[in-house]
Amino acid sequence: MILTDLLENNVEQFGEYPFLFYRDKALSNRDLLDAANRLAAALKQRGIGAGDRVMVCMPNCPEVFIAYQAIMRAGAIVLPVMFVLHPREIGFIARASEASAVITSQLLLGNVVEAAQEMDQPPLLLVSGLEDHPAAFDKVPVEDLQSAMVAATPDKPGITPKPDDLAVILYTSGTTGQPKGVMLTHRNLYSNAAAAVTLAEEEEGEDEEPGTTLGVLPLAHIYGFTMANTLFMRGSSVVVLPKFEVRAVCLAIQEHRIKRFSAVPAMLYALITDPATADYDLSSLESVGSGSAPCPVTLIEAFRKRFNADIYEGYGLSEAAPAVSAHRRGETIKPGSVGRPLPGVEIRIAGPDGDPLATGDIGELLVRGENITPGYYRNEEATLAALKDGWLHTGDMAKLDEEGYLYIVDRKKDLILRGGFNIYPRDLEDLILQHPDVAEVAVIGVPSDRMGEEVVAVIVRKPDAVVDEAGILDFCQERLANYKTPRSVVFLEALPRNGVGKILKKSLREEVAEQVSLE
Ligand code: AMP
Repeated sequence: MILTDLLENNVEQFGEYPFLFYRDKALSNRDLLDAANRLAAALKQRGIGAGDRVMVCMPNCPEVFIAYQAIMRAGAIVLPVMFVLHPREIGFIARASEASAVITSQLLLGNVVEAAQEMDQPPLLLVSGLEDHPAAFDKVPVEDLQSAMVAATPDKPGITPKPDDLAVILYTSGTTGQPKGVMLTHRNLYSNAAAAVTLAEEEEGEDEEPGTTLGVLPLAHIYGFTMANTLFMRGSSVVVLPKFEVRAVCLAIQEHRIKRFSAVPAMLYALITDPATADYDLSSLESVGSGSAPCPVTLIEAFRKRFNADIYEGYGLSEAAPAVSAHRRGETIKPGSVGRPLPGVEIRIAGPDGDPLATGDIGELLVRGENITPGYYRNEEATLAALKDGWLHTGDMAKLDEEGYLYIVDRKKDLILRGGFNIYPRDLEDLILQHPDVAEVAVIGVPSDRMGEEVVAVIVRKPDAVVDEAGILDFCQERLANYKTPRSVVFLEALPRNGVGKILKKSLREEVAEQVSLE
């Protein structure tokens, strides 16, 4: 049950095969193992060992796979960080975790140095493709990653983490406040990847070749991290893309005859709307997994129509390493639902006192199982609030249907309280998305003296669409209870999103509160 076994077991069980395709390079599983052992040895030579935190801040590339395995082989803890973060945010994570090293690339060196310079004990920077090292950065030690690896030996490092040792600390994207470091052990991560593999094998049969998939989810996000672990377990290959780009995705699907991959709704939306997809043969595509944010029912339908492929929606969160529930292939897809719990994962819909509610009732979703975090790094208060009576309190409001399918109604903190009524923004978002002129929508609560909060719809129109505020309000009034109907509509060019396409409702609320006048 430790993640460092994944790579060795993969080589032993499946023999040497091309594991990873990146640009015009192919790397075998054995190449990866050698590189990971070399980097682990290099880290050890530099005094990095058990319990140390090592940040990895790079777009998806082979070095990310190597770095994750190497850090754990040295007995240290991986801090995956989205490369799109602002230096201030990178600095926050580096300080809060007291990182002793950062593995990054030349392109991001400026940002990482800016973050590292503020630390009392600046971390060692190991930089992929190091070209120059400006003198101004002298107080931060910098080395070339590749040279450090070449100089080290590829022997097995001889450190074996225990299942309950920390493998990863993941600073959550912070869509609602200061990021918290979710601690995940080898057992947490291993058990969740194993549960996902069990599902896949049940669906496809153990004998079906797992084939090649697409690595387009950020490996710095828990969804991408665990997806990578399932590749080792299944003996799959992966085309690694540094970022989501429609043509690159289509080319990879066409060239590698990709049948399935994991994505987030914003990527799937881009695929159905971008005319460039018509230039490629995407007929190999059978299904796509979607998670990390709600997938609108309209998107599931449009995707099926356009690509003759199904979207299987699942639900998870960093604290659950991440997968909690998923739709199974071959079973009825219930659009709007996030499927049923994974093997070994228990869920409960709880009332305010923590007791289970009846089928169909809306309450907070609690989760327990081997995949659940032991807590937040150096943050006892947040840990006690999230882990009560052996259950993880997810902060998501949800319900179950008669057949045990789970529905995420909304995030507890996004709930709008208008004049004593609870309004779940997702309800309204699903409805407004059915308007033919609407491309994207986020419904938020904005402070109001009279009602406590008022409902505001923030909309991105489809290209060339002309619908105005009155048009949207009429559309809502005809279909919604009066108390839920938005008071105001704001049109934007784009919605603010984080690295995995989640809408940043907190910044949206701040931005929009200044624009609307409700009284
Ligand atoms: P993170 O830990 O950053 O991945 O964020 C996890 C949060 O994303 C969950 O608590 C949910 O609020 C949201 N989320 C993830 N998957 C879904 C989904 N399929 N539908 C609705 N919300 C989701």
